[in-house]
Amino acid sequence: MAYAITDACKKDYLCATECSTNAIHPLSYEDGAGAATQLFINPDECIDCGSCIAICPSNAIFPLDELPEDKAEFAEINAAYFH
Ligand code: SF4
Repeated sequence: MAYAITDACKKDYLCATECSTNAIHPLSYEDGAGAATQLFINPDECIDCGSCIAICPSNAIFPLDELPEDKAEFAEINAAYFH
C-alpha cells in the first residue's frame, strides 16, 4: 500500500523534501517539473511512512485505500507518471 498525491497539490515541494526514499517527483530541477500540474508518488519507492501527509498544507496526499471517491483515479495517475 503506497500513498498518492491528488490534484489539490500546489507543488510546494515540502513533501518531496520530507520523503526519505525520494519517492516524490518531479523535483523542481528535474525534467518536466514546469509542465507537471502536480507532484506524484512512485508506489514502488514509497514505504508508507506518512511523513508527506503530515507536512502537506494542502491536504493533497492520501493512502491509496483512503482516497476520496472522487479522487480514486489518482492511484493510477501517480503510478503512471513513473511508467
Ligand atoms: S509516505 Fe513516506 S515514503 Fe511514501 S511518499 Fe510519503 S514521505 Fe515518501
